[in-house]
Amino acid sequence: MIYLDNNATTAIDARVANVIAEVLALGPANASSQHAMGRAAQLHIDEAFDVISQAVDTTLDRPGGPRFLFTSGGTESNNLALAGLGDPHSAIILSRIEHPSVISVAEQLASTGREIRWMEVDSNGVARIDELAEQIQSCRSPCGLVSLMSANNETGVLQPIEEAAVVCRRAGVLLHVDATQSIGKVPFSLRRLDAAAVTLSAHKFHGPVGIGGLWLGSGVKLRPLFHGGPQQLETRPGTEPVALISGMAAALQLAVDSLRQNSDSMMMLRDELEGSLLSLFPDLVVHGASVERLPNTSCVSFPNADRQSMLMSLDFAKVACSSGAACSSGSSPPSHVLQAMKLSSSLVQSALRFSLSRFSRREEIVDSIDRISRCYKHLGRNKAVEN
Ligand code: PMP
Repeated sequence: MIYLDNNATTAIDARVANVIAEVLALGPANASSQHAMGRAAQLHIDEAFDVISQAVDTTLDRPGGPRFLFTSGGTESNNLALAGLGDPHSAIILSRIEHPSVISVAEQLASTGREIRWMEVDSNGVARIDELAEQIQSCRSPCGLVSLMSANNETGVLQPIEEAAVVCRRAGVLLHVDATQSIGKVPFSLRRLDAAAVTLSAHKFHGPVGIGGLWLGSGVKLRPLFHGGPQQLETRPGTEPVALISGMAAALQLAVDSLRQNSDSMMMLRDELEGSLLSLFPDLVVHGASVERLPNTSCVSFPNADRQSMLMSLDFAKVACSSGAACSSGSSPPSHVLQAMKLSSSLVQSALRFSLSRFSRREEIVDSIDRISRCYKHLGRNKAVEN
């Protein structure tokens, strides 16, 4: 199988799997236990804190300074941020292209009477940041939170999070950034960003599934979603999964250490994939191609075919990709992201996402160009005959 679905999840790096196995082999590890084994577990967590804070350019050691909560992944971090940041009666603004783990919480809050406003995107899928300041002012209740992802999972298009941080700071509004797709793929500095909270997820950068984090800025208060023991500043109780935490830190370190090199090679392969397909089929449309994108992501519409048929046919041809968000690819409703970009229904209905990783090899890309072309020729012609 040629795996081009890395925005859904990535293969764990063997070195990360080794780190996890080593920590697991140390034996029982409950960081709250008041004995040597508990202290050893806490030490692993402290070491992971240091590695992660360096990798995302922040400091976590000052009392009252930024904090980092380990969570079960991007979904939990996003739920925590949306439900737990800012005044519980304040308005929330979020972009129309957020991940369902942001949008669904906002919709749930709206059903309880909370005011939710949507930030529109342009036809390239970039959030209309020029409207944000006015939108904050025009909320019926004072706006307490803005949520904007750093890179979209379907198109890879980078979002103006730094501009959003400036607008939010001026307006005294908290900014949450879902950085699940960009951390480990593009340079990311929490020190420069000045957000209130940032989400990350280890399995998007060759770490284990089931561990992520929510970084919180200095003095930012968060209402917990779970209730239990005093772990993680009583904000995210539960015994910390020490081995997964060490694995996440190791994965992030590896990703950041070779970020430039990985990014260049992924971009070269991604561009080759797009360039070759476009030269064979000039009717294809690559979304977000004229704006800044993640180096690994390609969202392409095949206007003469249906995305579901293409997906199945590619699966048969042993190319793994995705139609719409990975999390919804089982049911696969049309992409809310491409709809928010106001693309024609034919472009929305025929879009596929190819996402590479640092493990993608050129032979695989050359092969996949051939397999994708064959599938499109086959399905495109059939459709034309039917019409
Ligand atoms: N946000 C974005 C942008 C994502 O792409 C994903 C994963 N598809 C998530 C959040 C959810 O992350 P997780 O799978 O770790 O819950």
